[in-house]
Order: sequence, then C-alpha cells, then structure tokens
Amino acid sequence: MLDCAPPMAAQLLDGKTLAAKIRASLKQKVDALVQRGVRPGLAVVLAGDDAASRVYVKNKTLGATETGMHSEQHLFPKDVAEPELLAKIAELNADPRVHSILVQLPLPPQVDSARVLEAIAPSKDVDGFHEVNLGALLAGRPRVVPCTPAGVMRLIEHAGIALAGRKAVVIGRSNIVGKPLAHLLLQKDATVTICHSKSSDLREIARAADVLVAAVGRAKLVGADMVKPGACVIDVGVNRLPDGKLAGDVDFAAVKEIAGWITPVPGGVGPMTIAMLLENCVRAASRE
Ligand code: NAD
Repeated sequence: MLDCAPPMAAQLLDGKTLAAKIRASLKQKVDALVQRGVRPGLAVVLAGDDAASRVYVKNKTLGATETGMHSEQHLFPKDVAEPELLAKIAELNADPRVHSILVQLPLPPQVDSARVLEAIAPSKDVDGFHEVNLGALLAGRPRVVPCTPAGVMRLIEHAGIALAGRKAVVIGRSNIVGKPLAHLLLQKDATVTICHSKSSDLREIARAADVLVAAVGRAKLVGADMVKPGACVIDVGVNRLPDGKLAGDVDFAAVKEIAGWITPVPGGVGPMTIAMLLENCVRAASRE
C-alpha cells in the first residue's frame, strides 16, 4: 500500500513534460549565471560510430545549447588509442570554459572505460560515474548524482509517492543505474532489494514491491504477473524492437492495467536523464 491512494488505472509518470519544466527553469538559472559572466559549458567526448550513441550525444548537446549553455563535441574514430582520449580529458579538465565533461559510453573495446572515466576531474564529472562521486553517494553525502537515477527519483518525488518504509525493488545492478538508484531509494528510507541476472524468484520479489524499477535492457521482462496492484513501476530500459520501435523492459500495455503509476518508453525516464545532466552542469558552473 502506498500513501497516496492508487488511481483505478495506472497514472502516467510523464517525464517529457516534467523535463521540459526543469529545462525552462534551468534556462533562467543559466541566464543569471551568464549575467555574472559564467556560461555553463558541457564537453561531450564520443569515440566510434555507434548509431545510438550519436543520437544520445546529439540530444544532450542540443539540450545544452537550447538551455543557453556552451557545448562542444569531441569526436574520435572507433580505432582511437586510449592515450589520445586521456590527453583530451586532461585538456578539458584544464579548460575554464568547460564545467562538465561527458564521455559517451560504450567506448571501443581497446579502451579501458574505467580508466577514462577516472581521468575526469570529479568536479567536472557530469554523469557522476567517477569513484569519488559514487563513493560520496554511498556514504550518504551525494555530490554529483548519476543522471538516470536522479531522474527516476525526481519523477517519484514529483508524483508525491512516499518512499519511507516502502518496499522498493530495483532490477539491474549496473554502476550507472541500478546501484546508485538503490542507494538513493535507501536514503529516502525505502527498504531496498536489488535483483540481477543471477537472482532467483525474481517474480515473487518484484511482486512485493511498492516501487518497482526495471533497468535491464530486455523488452517485456516485467509482465503484469510481476507487479503488485497499485505499485509505482519505473521503466528505465531502452530496447530496439525488430520493427525499429523503442520499448522499455516493462510490458506497458499489460502492466498499466494493474500498476498505480507507470512511466512510458519513450517519454518517461529518457527525457529526465537529459534534464538531470543539464542540471548537473548548471550546478558545476554555479560552484565557480
Ligand atoms: P547493464 O547491461 O550495465 O546492466 C543490466 C543489468 O541487468 C545487470 O545488472 C544484469 O545483472 C541485469 N540483468 C540482466 N538480465 C537480467 C534478468 N533476466 N533478470 C534480472 N536482471 C537481469 O545495463 P544499464 O547500463 O544499467 O542499462 C539498463 C537498461 O537501461 C538498458 O536498456 C539501457 O539502454 C537503459 N538505460 C536507459 C537510460 C535512459 O536514460 N532511459 C539510461 C541508461 C540506461
């Protein structure tokens, strides 16, 4: 049972509309910073020719420029050598116009992604993937919070869904989504369970959740039989179907009949991730 009485059919958690509101308010903050002589700057590093990564980078840089920020892209071929990327990160760390650095993942296989991410100055780590930032989050003193988990928390908060004492289940244990999100939910006093590819009884564990988050990358992994009536269901997954359409990890048509709240894909977590990225960049520039 959740604090708010669940509606009859699932209420849509509309990330697109909320993200647009956040971006409009960020634009005002950027205008004020520019008045003070500081224009927030985002540098994006992309290596290789992965089509999805190119779309993500385009959307992120577009979001930055629409909000009035300075943005720049640094593109490398897929056979780029790691020292070349590390040299670019060092250059961006020292560049006063750049407040935030984003390295688009995945990097080509010859590059050690962890080494590249650790090379980013923690204060410029807009994704919050640096071990210093992940450690601060774990210690309960978050500095830069990873964008997707931050976006999920903002959606839950905006819907007025109480978390204290509630059961939250996160399916997926990646460093960029599942683990940081579990810690954020814990910090709001939820009782958190993390499930992963080796979890047994996934269905039973998921069915107990007041808040169920799927961050796996498998279309229709979460069916109606895994959802407690009235639960809040957040779908982080992005899967390309054979017909070219996008789908999340949740069987949306079936689950919306039983859930209390549900995020669509697209239009749920995705736009919130970009809004949180821009917010992290504005915060970094405000610390100047
Ligand atoms: P990942 O591949 O790093 O992690 C996937 C996790 O799912 C792993 O922890 C694995 O143990 C778990 N898993 C795999 N199969 C499972 C199963 N059958 N049952 C339970 N758990 C299982 O992925 P990621 O980077 O965390 O991303 C997860 C999904 O979220 C992907 O679809 C990705 O595209 C999407 N994503 C979306 C956004 C966004 O802004 N909307 C941002 C980041 C990631």
